[in-house]
Amino acid sequence: MRRTALLAVVLLFSINCHAQFRVATYKDGKKAALSFTFDDGASDQLTLAIPQLEERGWRGTFYIIGSFIPEGDGNGFTWNVIRDLAGRGHEIGSHTMTHRNLLEIPYEEAVKEVYDCDSLILARTGVRPLSFAFPFNAADARIKSMAESGKVGSRTTQAVLGGRTTVDGFTKRLDETIDRDGWLVTMTHGIEKGYDHFASLETFIGYLDLIRDREDDLWIAPFAEVTSYIKERDDVRLGVRIKGRKVRIVPECSLDREIFRSTLSLETPLPVRKARQGRKDLKVMRFGGKTLVEFNPFAGNIVLKLSQRADQ
Ligand SMILES: [Zn+2]
Repeated sequence: MRRTALLAVVLLFSINCHAQFRVATYKDGKKAALSFTFDDGASDQLTLAIPQLEERGWRGTFYIIGSFIPEGDGNGFTWNVIRDLAGRGHEIGSHTMTHRNLLEIPYEEAVKEVYDCDSLILARTGVRPLSFAFPFNAADARIKSMAESGKVGSRTTQAVLGGRTTVDGFTKRLDETIDRDGWLVTMTHGIEKGYDHFASLETFIGYLDLIRDREDDLWIAPFAEVTSYIKERDDVRLGVRIKGRKVRIVPECSLDREIFRSTLSLETPLPVRKARQGRKDLKVMRFGGKTLVEFNPFAGNIVLKLSQRADQ
């Protein structure tokens, strides 16, 4: 009888330890996420949209069509421009070689459309595209799994952000996303000209202002980064051992570390004084009664030193 009671206490304590540590739903403990995606390489994405995003400290995802990018100099998206964008933290995603509907061509040609574009982007920029968008958003299960191979994922749901968008509709969409701890992926083509462009640049800026008003609740990051975070978050297992004020956490993630590269935010109500993973000091943030520690799910054991009091 006594042994059973002791066992129960030990078990409860260990369950309690685990419950104290989880991976936050989104990075930095934000309630929801938002990714800007831009399709087809319309030139005013470069001249009008990117300066506005960068002014606010945001980065977008640009789905480019391989055969549309000129070799050498040119206006709009060139390989030099694309390489530079990637260097500034924007994501360059794959949107096929020639923008044909992948459901309306033989499967072998669809494979070529995808892989040729991937290889071209890698060859010209040195960066492997980590996400994919389907021309006309047309895909089935087989096409989807082919296109996602070697990547973190593909865009399958999106909120149009363009000439057809209304302020009321978009505001509602944003607020629902935050209420539901969701992830909003916007899809934009032209800004002032081209497919589904806005009435003017100011209209586009108006939508950015709606987003900025909600930035405290939103993690704004490129599509592949959010996809990577979500899949790592859902895959990782945390082995937790607490000894006095020292906590050892062993993260185990079964995903391919070559392509899944997002760091995760560990969340705990306990106050953490110092956090290390291997030889690296980890970033520790404390707010709203919780601590967030940014860690790499592939980099081995994490050691946390807890503070004596919650206010330390
Ligand atoms: Zn397109």
